Amino acid sequence: MTYTEHFEQIVKDQLARVERLLASSEMTDFSKKEKIIIGTIDGDGIGPIIMDSCRKILEKLLADEIASGKIELRTIDGLTLENRIAKMETVPQDVLAAIKECDLLLKGPTTTPGKGDNLPNIESANVTLRRELDLFANVRPVVIPEKNIDWIFYRENTEGEYALGSRGVDINEDISIDFKVTTTIGTKRLARAAFEYAKNNGNKNVSIVTKANIMKKTDGKFLSLCQEVAKDYPGIKVDDWYVDIMAANLVNDQINSQFNVVILPNLYGDIITDEAAQLQGGVGTAGSANIGGRYAMFEAIHGSAPRMMEDGIGEYANPASINRAAVMMLKHIGFVQKAAILEKALDAAQEALSLPGDGTGNTATDFTAFVLERLS
Ligand code: NAD
Repeated sequence: MTYTEHFEQIVKDQLARVERLLASSEMTDFSKKEKIIIGTIDGDGIGPIIMDSCRKILEKLLADEIASGKIELRTIDGLTLENRIAKMETVPQDVLAAIKECDLLLKGPTTTPGKGDNLPNIESANVTLRRELDLFANVRPVVIPEKNIDWIFYRENTEGEYALGSRGVDINEDISIDFKVTTTIGTKRLARAAFEYAKNNGNKNVSIVTKANIMKKTDGKFLSLCQEVAKDYPGIKVDDWYVDIMAANLVNDQINSQFNVVILPNLYGDIITDEAAQLQGGVGTAGSANIGGRYAMFEAIHGSAPRMMEDGIGEYANPASINRAAVMMLKHIGFVQKAAILEKALDAAQEALSLPGDGTGNTATDFTAFVLERLS
């Protein structure tokens, strides 16, 4: 295939994707569902350790709903690096089929082989799942009460640099080119979700973050579409920032408490939310939601921490992250009281225990026992 044919194919695929998005406006109404199936996926590295904690906690918290058949916690096997490499599939077909039978997913981190790992070049399972399940909004709250910080990030989850991450081209030894995509429907639905959240939670400020002065087409479009959606929400104060100064703003205690809802394209969202989570107490403390119309997936924001496993300290992984994600899941399906019970227990654990992830302090087992005791 020549470069021009490669580029033409990419454009055709993206046009077809937009057609598919325009045709599907399905939204699951969980209040009307008789049964909700939650698929649980262990993932790699510390994944099985933190997922074991979360499963035990949910089994206790949702014991009545599980007994009555309203909720099913369904274990989904096979989303491991070994199985993905054996089948040479990012998400093996049988695993994807099992996932699509669920309504929601609670997922442990999955390893993506990087350059220099001497492993086959398979794409990130997350990127595939976000695309396959059309999980367009990545939502990450960060709360630091002592600094009066209450942020929630709405990161676009299926476009930007990630849409075509494995389809860049090495033209020759000297030149490599990657692609970045912004679509109208992809941006507007994210912006609408963020503004709806801002409106429903007391008209919080909304900040739009791009690098529209440099990436004039893709980020320029993202910014102007967000500003267009903002016109439907006249009570909300809106501002926009370039991603570099936003990275500085978040660590500037003079102004960081003024931000509430932050909307970002995919790559900037990936980076800025890890920075924000670090300010909250480390990636081990933060959960995230990947929301689509039909499906939603909840997970920790961190990865599989392979070094913790190599050093034999996996048992010191902090399960707060995935349990915070479970709180978001319970709120998403309208189980607000159950979410509040779990959130209170997690806050107490954060206060009483220390899990820095370096092999000192408390273990995941201590954490789980502490939370289980406080679930009533
Ligand atoms: P990482 O998030 O796994 O680790 C970063 C640092 O945070 C490490 O020091 C680690 O020990 C620490 N850490 C992570 N989780 C912790 C926890 N629960 N408790 C205490 N400390 C914790 O980042 P990485 O090393 O860049 O990535 C490892 C692998 O995970 C890569 O293959 C990457 O692609 C993958 N990854 C997966 C996801 C996902 O599945 N959602 C997200 C990010 C990275």
